Amino acid sequence: MSLLKVAGLGKAFGGVKAVDGIHFELAAGELLALIGPNGAGKSTTFNMVNGQLPADSGSILLNGQELVGRKPRDIWRMGVGRTFQIAETFASLSVVENVQMALLSVDDRLFSFWRNASDHKRDEALDLLAQVGMRAQADRPCSELAYGDVKRVELAIAMANSPKLLLMDEPTAGMAPKERNDLMALTKQLVVDRGMAVLFTEHSMDVVFAYADRMIVLARGRLIAEGKPLELRDHPKVQEVYFGS
Ligand code: ADP
Ligand code: MG
Repeated sequence: MSLLKVAGLGKAFGGVKAVDGIHFELAAGELLALIGPNGAGKSTTFNMVNGQLPADSGSILLNGQELVGRKPRDIWRMGVGRTFQIAETFASLSVVENVQMALLSVDDRLFSFWRNASDHKRDEALDLLAQVGMRAQADRPCSELAYGDVKRVELAIAMANSPKLLLMDEPTAGMAPKERNDLMALTKQLVVDRGMAVLFTEHSMDVVFAYADRMIVLARGRLIAEGKPLELRDHPKVQEVYFGS
């Protein structure tokens, strides 16, 4: 049985059918790339799977359990993880909480309180950092890290709930080719080691060809092609999407 089974999934914004009745499946241990031009409906699909957006129609089964209609938190608990940009993690705090965080780091008394509490789950966190090759840099401020290393930390954060399915929306955006390859090789390693499934979006076809087990192609909300990346390389619709012919 597939880990994830998406059937007839649809979402419209006003008159725009952002996702128009798509079907696809994803097995444990598989890296599936979701590709397509800007506005194709990739992020909307992700946000329906993680519960941030309610679907208008269709079904999303995780191990046979329906995700449509559940809250993001429940879907997360059921084993659907997603990578957040570290800045976004703070963006999820309210305005006052952001100010509280800032105060916490300047008030010595509060800061020492946090320091005393900060051993909580430290070993677990160090273990996750070891899995992404960041154990040696555990005590450095994130702000000092190279961009590729920040992405590794984001991956460690996303692994915290031991996801069965990890969603990565444009994980390599803004990265140099070497960093991109390192991040995807690491992701592939996690998939193999943990038997996890990954659904990711990607603009670089080189990355898709090198790392994805399978890909699906969206255009204007419709799924127009599906298969092994190299087999789809010459598919007219894929050429059309990527080379605008
Ligand atoms: P992609 O991630 O493939 O670039 P999106 O899923 O972000 O595409 O967008 C698909 C379509 O839905 C686009 O036409 C986009 O403008 C529209 N859309 C996405 N989110 C919203 C929203 N919150 N409100 C209105 N329209 C949206
Ligand atoms: Mg997007």
